[in-house]
Amino acid sequence: MNPAERVKQVPPSGIRRFFELAEEMDDIISLGVGEPDFSAPWAAREAAITSLEQGKTSYTANRGRRELRTKIATYADDRYGLEYDPDEEILVTAGASEAIDLAFRALVDPGDTVAVAQPGFVSYVPKAIFAGAEPLRVQTRRADEFRLTREVLEAHGAGDADVLMYCYPNNPTGATMTGEELSEVAEFAREHDLTVFSDEIYSELSYEHEHTSIATLPGMRERTVVINGFSKAFAMTGLRLGYALAPPETAQAMNRIHQYTMMSAPTTAQYAGIEALDSCADALAEMRSQYDRRRKLLLSRFEEMGLDCVRARGAFYAFPACPDDDAEQFAEELLHKERVAVVPGTAFGDGGAGHLRASYATGLADLKEALDRIERFI
Ligand code: PLP
Repeated sequence: MNPAERVKQVPPSGIRRFFELAEEMDDIISLGVGEPDFSAPWAAREAAITSLEQGKTSYTANRGRRELRTKIATYADDRYGLEYDPDEEILVTAGASEAIDLAFRALVDPGDTVAVAQPGFVSYVPKAIFAGAEPLRVQTRRADEFRLTREVLEAHGAGDADVLMYCYPNNPTGATMTGEELSEVAEFAREHDLTVFSDEIYSELSYEHEHTSIATLPGMRERTVVINGFSKAFAMTGLRLGYALAPPETAQAMNRIHQYTMMSAPTTAQYAGIEALDSCADALAEMRSQYDRRRKLLLSRFEEMGLDCVRARGAFYAFPACPDDDAEQFAEELLHKERVAVVPGTAFGDGGAGHLRASYATGLADLKEALDRIERFI
């Protein structure tokens, strides 16, 4: 059988290739991972276990359990001032990943252009291609600390695109954007009639200022799909639970695809999600404070060893410039000689060239050891 052309257009993920290399070796400390090193809070796990004990193993409503949608609505409003109707405007999905895919497939027609901010999460360009769209790579600049600016959008002709896709706090750079900085992007989106897919999966991990969702800015709610989930904030990656917030017609269109492809997000995970929003704010705050400690350590050690790194203000990544011209080779040698895994920046788009992504979703002791090894290697 011959794979479809649009599948052949998409190369395998650069991150995976690197992990496969690392998996074959012993005594590796991985700063390559993109998921929390914590387990989900116990109360959430217990709620999942209890739901199983009670035999709650059926499908849920396509849009997700109403109790969960109501809790998401309250949380999004209390935390970020995002007001969405649980019946019409919230869709519970199998991870943020599904929500992103649904947004593309529900709102993008073949031949449409999707402006994708880069360096960015690895799945956006492939998903745009799978939806039949033309990806337009918008390279944010180190000089702007990898924030999206009007200048960068204009320089790449993003005004001619149909959709703008980005994520802040950002994977892989750790960049964040304040409400004021986002206003510039919002203005540009309104002027050029862009639909915005705003991936806010790291919204709970903004260490230096409060997270702002672009959908709260004037004239943006009607043109934005907000994507979020439980993977990063509640350390629930394996449970596969995310959601989208969108105006009614958009949520309905996304649900149309969701009901024929996924049916409903994992039921057990939905029970865990309800409990997470109900009682796990302290656990989340504790994880956030540990990430923050590690972040500060990482940034100060990078500075001491002369690694040039823009200030990482969110998520759990830092994105230092590679001291060597060839970041791929540097990462490979670091892995072989010192047994530390980091990801070459090009895995996140060409704009990542000359950089490395180091994740601090790794315990403090391992992180310190990894930093010692990196220093020795340099
Ligand atoms: N969006 C970003 C920016 C991510 O970094 C990731 C995972 O690494 C995801 C989405 C996927 O999230 P989920 O596990 O909810 O599918």
